[in-house]
Amino acid sequence: MERVGVFLCTGCDIGSSLRTDGLPELATSSGATHFAAHPCLCAPEGVASIRAAVDAGAIDGVVVAACSQRHKQAEFRFDPAAVQVERVALREQVAWTHAPGHEDTQALAEDLLRMGIVRARKMVPAQRRAEGVEQAVLVVGGGLAGLQAAQAAAGMGHPVVVVERSEGLGGHLARVREVVPDVPPYDRLQANPVPALARAVREDGRIRLLTGTRIVRIAGQPGQFTVEVEGPGGREELRAGAIVQATGARPYDASRLQHLGMGASPDVITSAELEPMLWRRELERPSDRQRPRRVVFVQCAGSRDEAHLGYCSSECCATSLRQVMAIHQDWPEVECAILYRDLRAPGQVEHFYRAVQEQSGVMLARGTVEGVVPSGAGLRVSVRDSLLGEKVEIDADLVVLATGMVPSSADGEAIRQLRDARSRVARNESETQRKAAEEVAAKLAHHDGTEILNLAYRQGPDLPVLEDGFPDSHYICFPYETRRTGIYAAGAVRAPMDPAQAAEDGWGAAMKATQIIAALGRGETVHPRSGDFACADFFLQRCTQCKRCTEECPFGSLDEDAKGTPQYNASRCRRCGICMGACPERIISYADYSVDAVAGMIKAIEVPDESEEKPRIVALLCENDAYPALDDAAARRAAWNPWVRVIPVRCLGSVNIVWIAESLSRGIDGVMLIGCKRGGDTQCHYVKGSELAHKRLENVQETLTRLSLEAERVRVVELARNETARIPALFDEFAQQLEELGANPLKGF
Ligand code: SF4
Ligand code: SF4
Repeated sequence: MERVGVFLCTGCDIGSSLRTDGLPELATSSGATHFAAHPCLCAPEGVASIRAAVDAGAIDGVVVAACSQRHKQAEFRFDPAAVQVERVALREQVAWTHAPGHEDTQALAEDLLRMGIVRARKMVPAQRRAEGVEQAVLVVGGGLAGLQAAQAAAGMGHPVVVVERSEGLGGHLARVREVVPDVPPYDRLQANPVPALARAVREDGRIRLLTGTRIVRIAGQPGQFTVEVEGPGGREELRAGAIVQATGARPYDASRLQHLGMGASPDVITSAELEPMLWRRELERPSDRQRPRRVVFVQCAGSRDEAHLGYCSSECCATSLRQVMAIHQDWPEVECAILYRDLRAPGQVEHFYRAVQEQSGVMLARGTVEGVVPSGAGLRVSVRDSLLGEKVEIDADLVVLATGMVPSSADGEAIRQLRDARSRVARNESETQRKAAEEVAAKLAHHDGTEILNLAYRQGPDLPVLEDGFPDSHYICFPYETRRTGIYAAGAVRAPMDPAQAAEDGWGAAMKATQIIAALGRGETVHPRSGDFACADFFLQRCTQCKRCTEECPFGSLDEDAKGTPQYNASRCRRCGICMGACPERIISYADYSVDAVAGMIKAIEVPDESEEKPRIVALLCENDAYPALDDAAARRAAWNPWVRVIPVRCLGSVNIVWIAESLSRGIDGVMLIGCKRGGDTQCHYVKGSELAHKRLENVQETLTRLSLEAERVRVVELARNETARIPALFDEFAQQLEELGANPLKGF
């Protein structure tokens, strides 16, 4: 911006901790055109003084030198199309955390002010996108979660299309008579709500049902999806603003459970195979069609087992309890036993568990099943009792394996290969085997073979998934999110869950779907940068088609033309800046965030020469977790090293290596990057950003060593949102380490 006004707040201890008399001149010499101080800038009169300068046309950029950007957002929000605002946190990073009146405190404040002015000067006005936004929600899958999502979205005023592959609605619950109770007293089976829900959806004029139909292709972006479907009437093209994927799960492949007797006798079946018998009210052993006298249920069949499914499938315990109760109701003379490692009965299911336990002829025993073998006319189950530590043998006429669930979106064969390859690696860590495992993992990541959504995206046809096939997302904060903006996962395809949770999921995903349609209508993106409307700008004349941005964007926002030039889909973009961090040509930027702006901030730091023995540290903090943790530390009046200059970044993945090079070449002694935890249970709000930053930094460290700069001068730290107390220690330890290393040898060049 050309006419930047600096507004200094002297309240909240800022005025008493600084010498403010020289700041107007500092602002002017840094390029600001206006300076004003106010004793309480967030008060109506303070805000009015800013607005008056904006309205008079005196300024088009505002530097609020006061509190953190996370506070007083409503007070300091102006139309970004007319004026850009930069916040300088003098309160948190200076007044509340450093010795008042000290020369180091003054130097810190002056640096922060210069940095803020430079950034404001490098901002440009943001343009709000105005494009047509389709209001319809597409729900893929007509099971419980999908039906609930459809009903919820329709109830919120959106037209809905449900696409279901099979001919009927309700998924596997469609042919279940009664379900686990969710109303008091929780001790008896209750009518299955799914048929009534399916009927209501069929009768709802706002919902169009397409059964026996599959998705051929989904192209476009949120707000403007074009969906090609193929059903009994041929092919058809639909439009949708957002998508809910509720395609459910399937039982784990029981043929792999030979150690539990599968295949050894026809009388070893799965809980899914028992279901039709209960539905028909014809309980019989497959071998002789006689009614069994004793049925043994084996829990965790394939679940919580690293050789099969590493996770708890969540609902198999409740399913076995339900099936036992159903058997007991219809055939009270049939004895039932449930053999479990841990019986999972969350919430009110605990009451139902007790009720089942109290039925005569029902036994629940804790232990690990070691084998199921044919014995005479029946079966013998060997179980190691985990309380007594003894091996116990139980005779049964029918054994029911409570198999786990595999998300419908997962390529089961790829998961099996991955697990097999992993266990080979564990046994003998040869390079070839490791590579084989990695190849399978890469295949799984690209989701070959399932193609439920058939997205016409450069990064592949389906949702990126985790190792076990569930969608990858920041599932702590945004549970329904996937790594495809505007596409939300609900029900068992998202995570193992029981019917009650699936119904709740349907609601949640429908709300997210309608939320993004509303946000796009305002031209805005969704969380974590809700309300942001400045899109990424690609200066493609200088693009070398290196494809780093198209490959690294976690949200599949970028497609490519035939030459490999990125094609930006603004509504898929979450404004994380990861492409900006990736681009070696530095040609990706935003109105209020760019490689040039942050590089300018680094240049604005005054670096004392070696003789002063006052190192300088640039700390790039992720604005999602690390920066809020820093604010919290300040609110508790923690004190930290005054040599640190904090720059908030959208994500560690948005850090362009050039910022580190710029810092070190200017004589800054060390650069610290603090971001979210990475890995399978990632806390990175952009899922891949933290992981990418670590990978990129590995290359930087090699370069530093080649330049005879110690690799220790750049440090990446993972920090959780609640690790507030770690922040001061992290800064202090790093400063101490830099002192021990000595001054950056490039200082003064
Ligand atoms: S800002 Fe993030 S989401 Fe948008 S294109 Fe770049 S990497 Fe993708
Ligand atoms: S990273 Fe930069 S240079 Fe490479 S393809 Fe993307 S825009 Fe072009």
